[in-house]
Amino acid sequence: MATILQPTSTQTTGKPTTAQAYGVTSETAPIEPMTIERRALRPEDVAIRITHCGICHSDLHMARNDWGMSVYPMVPGHEIVGIVTAVGSGVSKFKVGDRAAVGCLVDSDRTCNHCKAGHEQFCPNWVMTYAGTDLQDASVTYGGYSDQIVVRQEFVCRVPESLDISRAAPLLCAGITTYSPLRKFGVGPGTKVGIAGLGGLGHMGVKLARAMGADVTMITTSPEKGEDARELGADDVLISKDQAAMDAAAERFDFILNTIPVAHDVGPYLNLLKPNGVMVIVGAIDMLEGVHGGALAMRNRTIAGSLIGGLPETQEMLDFCAEHGVLPEVEHIGPDRINDAWERMAKGDVRYRFVIDMGTTGEAA
Ligand code: NAP
Ligand code: ZN
Repeated sequence: MATILQPTSTQTTGKPTTAQAYGVTSETAPIEPMTIERRALRPEDVAIRITHCGICHSDLHMARNDWGMSVYPMVPGHEIVGIVTAVGSGVSKFKVGDRAAVGCLVDSDRTCNHCKAGHEQFCPNWVMTYAGTDLQDASVTYGGYSDQIVVRQEFVCRVPESLDISRAAPLLCAGITTYSPLRKFGVGPGTKVGIAGLGGLGHMGVKLARAMGADVTMITTSPEKGEDARELGADDVLISKDQAAMDAAAERFDFILNTIPVAHDVGPYLNLLKPNGVMVIVGAIDMLEGVHGGALAMRNRTIAGSLIGGLPETQEMLDFCAEHGVLPEVEHIGPDRINDAWERMAKGDVRYRFVIDMGTTGEAA
């Protein structure tokens, strides 16, 4: 249970506002429109008119309570971009009209060693963007499938001017979740990288690893995605269901980023690693089958994991994407099509991230 912190100040600006949102009321319910309240601005708060929100596979896991931590009603969405519409009296980082982005967390205690190191995702008191518990008033947080949100300034990133805001939203989760382990394990020129699973995370993994100068192979169950993978920047494509091709690729990679969203046998992927190779699991928050001690010990291989990224690294990733012209491939949908998008995503039919256009980009703020 999260610790409830004493407010740094009780002073607020304005009144709570009513927001249009799209959420679920139970683990079996479809997405439906709902009305929610966004809090009056605390001194450090930024109010954002959400223009776009990406659809992450985690939204579906959370809606269906796959991880046993869901609360309802739930408004998912943690790939949020938009425009600042108001700021609290203590905000220095943003002004009205700025482009802003919010990812998977909206607060933390900001005092623990993890927070001080910029790894807020490990803070024992971190607050998830949705289905989290606000540290000051214990209210449940609602995410980005909505037309507005209020977030503490430290948890809001800047969207560089050169990034197309209509495509940038998936960077806030798919982007940082792939960027962080690629950086941590020193992927760059000369590194042979495999990316397993060509969905939202996987396609960002291909683009980012390529932008870092690595030699990239897409490892996919879907032969029909092969050509796309090359267009995204993959040098090669490996079909994981093709046993002969998998055998031929044994010990080929220095690094594999595994984005497969369900429990699966990791043995065949481990065999693809060179001696001293590393496989980072970001997809399956689940039991992993197929880990044979010999497959690790006999080749000094490592299996690791990675959880999104902290706020400083998220800003670094946005700046990297701006500098290198890296943007997600998106399919825009209106809020009325979220249920279809979830169904398609569950079947692996996503090219390569659904982004909800909130329809708020007109003149009205
Ligand atoms: P996604 O868009 O649905 O893509 C997943 C891809 O994995 C699919 O397109 C498919 O690609 C492949 N796949 C699906 N089922 C498979 C199976 N049974 N066996 C092998 N491959 C399969 O999902 P996403 O949004 O990228 O998210 C991926 C996972 O990462 C989710 O579980 C999500 O919750 C998790 N996640 C973790 C973090 C973190 O911080 N660690 C952050 C965000 C998301 P192919 O057709 O190419 O095979
Ligand atoms: Zn996500």
